[in-house]
Amino acid sequence: MTLAALWYPTDKCFIDGRWQPPANGKTLPLENPSTGQVIGQIARGSKDDIDAAVAAATAARTGDWGHLPAFERGRLLGHMGRLVLSHVDQLAEIEATDVGKPLKQARADVLALARYLEFYGGAADKIMGETIPYLNGYTVYTLREPHGVTGHIIPWNYPMQIIGRSVGAALAMGNACVLKPAEEACLTALAFAAIADEAGFPRGAINVVPGLGTEAGAALSEHSGVQHISFTGSVPVGGLIQTAAARNVVPVTLELGGKSPQLVFEDADLDAALPYLVNAGIQNAGQTCSASSRLLVHRSIHDQLLDRLAARYRALRVGPAMSDLDLGPLISANQKSIVAGYLAKGRDLECAAKGEISQSAPTGGHYIAPTLLAGVAPDHTLARDEIFGPVQVVIPFDDEEQAIAIANGTDFGLVASIWTNSGARQMRAAKAIRAGQIFINNYGAGGGVELPFGGIGKSGHGREKGFEALYGFSTLKTIAALHN
Ligand code: NAP
Ligand code: MG
Repeated sequence: MTLAALWYPTDKCFIDGRWQPPANGKTLPLENPSTGQVIGQIARGSKDDIDAAVAAATAARTGDWGHLPAFERGRLLGHMGRLVLSHVDQLAEIEATDVGKPLKQARADVLALARYLEFYGGAADKIMGETIPYLNGYTVYTLREPHGVTGHIIPWNYPMQIIGRSVGAALAMGNACVLKPAEEACLTALAFAAIADEAGFPRGAINVVPGLGTEAGAALSEHSGVQHISFTGSVPVGGLIQTAAARNVVPVTLELGGKSPQLVFEDADLDAALPYLVNAGIQNAGQTCSASSRLLVHRSIHDQLLDRLAARYRALRVGPAMSDLDLGPLISANQKSIVAGYLAKGRDLECAAKGEISQSAPTGGHYIAPTLLAGVAPDHTLARDEIFGPVQVVIPFDDEEQAIAIANGTDFGLVASIWTNSGARQMRAAKAIRAGQIFINNYGAGGGVELPFGGIGKSGHGREKGFEALYGFSTLKTIAALHN
């Protein structure tokens, strides 16, 4: 794929309905992680471009976009969803090239983006307020209103899905959006702007400013013209975003990853569990906020399950995104060195199995073999830190109480799954585990546009996805009329 073949410019910002070079004229190199080669340049947007984008979004709120009735916003989102589906192969190829994810994963991400647009398009005119019984002589009701201008700082791991869930919900509620995609992966954010334009979104409703987090990202999170910020990414940057937003006293939604466990009890259906146990850890080469990186296994089935997990690991193949194997490369040399650093810290652990890097993998790509580690104590660094690579640790437990204590023993709380056929244990464990999402006898890393998603603890706060996100992207006004 060459950037010149794309139907939209990749080295510009999209501001106020127009493709514009960044004000400073600067660009950043764009790397294909499967080869390590630079394949083009993207805009290095800065504070000036963010100022222009926030001004355009502010004007859109009182202009054509702000005047659209809810059902017309929904219709535009639905139309955009259909356009995304009409570009499915091309978008999948763009995302696979930019992020390094296997083509089938990239395709699943495009379909998820279309589903978000359909879901939030359908919901746009179904958010209603309440009438509230109050004192005699009063009529009281509530209105759900948009925040105004919303900022969206997007990571590189699932650009399309994360844009779909946050920007889709924000637009449905009538906000005007400014997106800062990740420097490492901004091509589908720009495609999103191009498709929104084609769908007929009024100017200023959607603005995209690529660039560095420390420049464009910081300018967006500090901007006094932004009324809500949605961020997905690392814990330290999440803290910076929240601090910046606090100075302007605006709400933030933070989704900061996790160390999500799967608890496998002695009565679990192991045949059903096996594919989920592994896939939840290696999907997108483990670069998934809701990846399941800890497998907690009852000691009575530990050895037989470890053998079966190891066999699956040995069959995993890693290679360039376009060869569509089980795993692609990591996003960058930097991410690969972070993961390699963790593996070095795990040298004392038992390496139960590794997958294989294909001979077709170019030497410049950022490949790492998926690794299954056993004999891991729950307080080991590799059992506590988010590695964000294809590494899973297996931790044995002796009883339910201990399993739950281990599950709750990290700073995170994003997702967990419980594998057992005991109904009572399913209910008990689901209540006892601290996480934003619990799956019983399945695991849904990233799946389910309808399901509210978000964390507790260092996994962040606020909920995206599902109907719940629409409440987060709006504010409630109470109107009390005295009429006697
Ligand atoms: P990151 O630094 O948190 O980046 C996420 C987004 O925030 C990117 O768009 C980034 O821009 C932007 N950003 C960075 N610094 C910023 C700042 N000071 N102000 C405003 N925005 C800023 O994540 P990363 O460096 O790409 O990855 C590092 C680690 O973060 C990973 O190893 C993983 O543990 C975690 N992570 C988690 C998720 C998740 O889904 N929860 C996603 C990605 C990463 P630029 O990248 O363009 O600088
Ligand atoms: Mg890239």
